[in-house]
Amino acid sequence: MERTMEAAVVEQFGKPLALREWDVPSPGAGQILVKTEACGVCGTDVHARAGDWPVKPTLPFIPGHEAIGRVAAVGAGVNIVKEGDRVGVPWLYSACGRCEYCLSGWETACPEAKFGGYTQNGGMAAYLLADPNYVAHIPSGLAAKDVAPIICAGITTYKGIKQTEAKPGQWIAISGAGGLGHVAIQYAKAMGLHVCAIDIDDGKLAHAKRLGADFVINAKTTPDPVAAVKKETGGGAHGVLITAPSLSAFKQGVGMTRRRGTCVLIGLPPGEFPVPIFDMVATCMTIRGSFVGTREDMAEALAFAAEGKVKTDIEIQPLSSINQVIDRLEHGEVPSRVVLESKEWSN
Ligand code: NAD
Ligand code: ZN
Ligand code: ZN
Repeated sequence: MERTMEAAVVEQFGKPLALREWDVPSPGAGQILVKTEACGVCGTDVHARAGDWPVKPTLPFIPGHEAIGRVAAVGAGVNIVKEGDRVGVPWLYSACGRCEYCLSGWETACPEAKFGGYTQNGGMAAYLLADPNYVAHIPSGLAAKDVAPIICAGITTYKGIKQTEAKPGQWIAISGAGGLGHVAIQYAKAMGLHVCAIDIDDGKLAHAKRLGADFVINAKTTPDPVAAVKKETGGGAHGVLITAPSLSAFKQGVGMTRRRGTCVLIGLPPGEFPVPIFDMVATCMTIRGSFVGTREDMAEALAFAAEGKVKTDIEIQPLSSINQVIDRLEHGEVPSRVVLESKEWSN
């Protein structure tokens, strides 16, 4: 096995990632080494490069939390996966397994959780370490590049939709039709919901229609997007899922929520937004955060992909283009999802 590998590395916040040699890690007891086949680039990688969240990773680090690869080596005591198995290494890299959240099947809320491609080195390199207890088991028949976005965009939006508690036949408004949004629309349709997609880009909205959105709204060019959603849904959406990394989308999303409805916050723009207390109280509305998904959510979200009910729309780029990809994401110029591949990875 090679001793060093090429990796995309955040060395300084707000600066381009460096493409440089990095030592191939070796798996300690209870760890596995995964050889990367493909890695999606998430909106979160924009924040990872910028360092604009209150919780910051330690520099330098390798981002990437939509990594798919084969198990290349297992550390002592690992018997859940074996060499050659195809796994996904997600954002929820590991959790303690003992706290009240872990014990109740909410490992995503574990205060000791570690994050792939953030607090732990991620998939923008030929190899990465993983905790076998928290990897995704990739169903056969799915190509690595196609399934990569399911590992974050898929499980996050699938879980978020469940958290809206919208029922089949009811309305969901999905704000942001990019990497997360384009799969969210498909999950919502597969779950029997009526979908209103909201974005500020007409190309993304046309794509949202092709993916099954029942109606679409451009939040930039529509004079009153909240009123438009209320009119179309007969009083607001039962569930609202905000994936857009924009504070104005959060304010509008709350306004689009139906009486007794639930507005789920997923996008992570740094900052705060005002909530109208009277409206929230008087309409018995719920506003709730949702963070990726548990291992159970992951298995369910993968099953939709394996059954062909959710298909990722991907653009392949080489690892060496990572900075241009993050720049494009920052400016809303990625149509759905970029997945990185590297010649080095296919060896
Ligand atoms: P993306 O850039 O692919 O998609 C964002 C979309 O929002 C784009 O299509 C953009 O045009 C649209 N948008 C921008 N401003 C808007 C507005 N005002 N109204 C409506 N749409 C608007 O990014 P992504 O990969 O989908 O990630 C989105 C956000 O979700 C990021 O902040 C990311 O960190 C966060 N995220 C959160 C979780 C979680 O667990 N909560 C998981 C993954 C990503
Ligand atoms: Zn992500
Ligand atoms: Zn825990």
